[in-house]
Amino acid sequence: MAELLKLEVVTPEKYVISEDVEIVMAPGTIGEFGVLSGHTPFLTSLKPGTINYKDSAGKDKIIFVSGGFSEALPDRVTILAESAERRRDIDIDRARAALDRAQKRLAQGKADNINFERAKASMYRAIERIKIVETRSL
Ligand code: ATP
Repeated sequence: MAELLKLEVVTPEKYVISEDVEIVMAPGTIGEFGVLSGHTPFLTSLKPGTINYKDSAGKDKIIFVSGGFSEALPDRVTILAESAERRRDIDIDRARAALDRAQKRLAQGKADNINFERAKASMYRAIERIKIVETRSL
């Protein structure tokens, strides 16, 4: 059996998971990366996307993360996220409503740069949440 490492995902609001896992894949801002037990330590920022991991029973799991930071050490990965939800905790109707709101704001044009960028970020979060829920059987 593969050596395990501890995966912890934390937001300012809650502890999302603390689990022993075989492998973690995460959306780094300069590209997706994978971590196995014994990995060289590194720190990176994250973009909105999915954390994929294999739990200690070898089952594939998936978590939404809205961005934040990841610290990898040889025996653990700690993800400090702005927000994060396990697949089963994602409210698909809420994500669809957020996508709809963001698209309407974007359709109004770029009159206000800050709101345009916020709407774009909100759209990316909603799309990633919807993709996770609609991904088959993880
Ligand atoms: P919304 O516009 O619906 O609030 P958002 O992308 O702006 O979406 P975030 O700022 O990422 O929301 O998160 C705020 C809080 O709401 C966090 O606790 C996050 O986990 C939760 N949250 C946001 N959207 C969803 C969702 N679709 N399902 C479950 N929890 C959600």
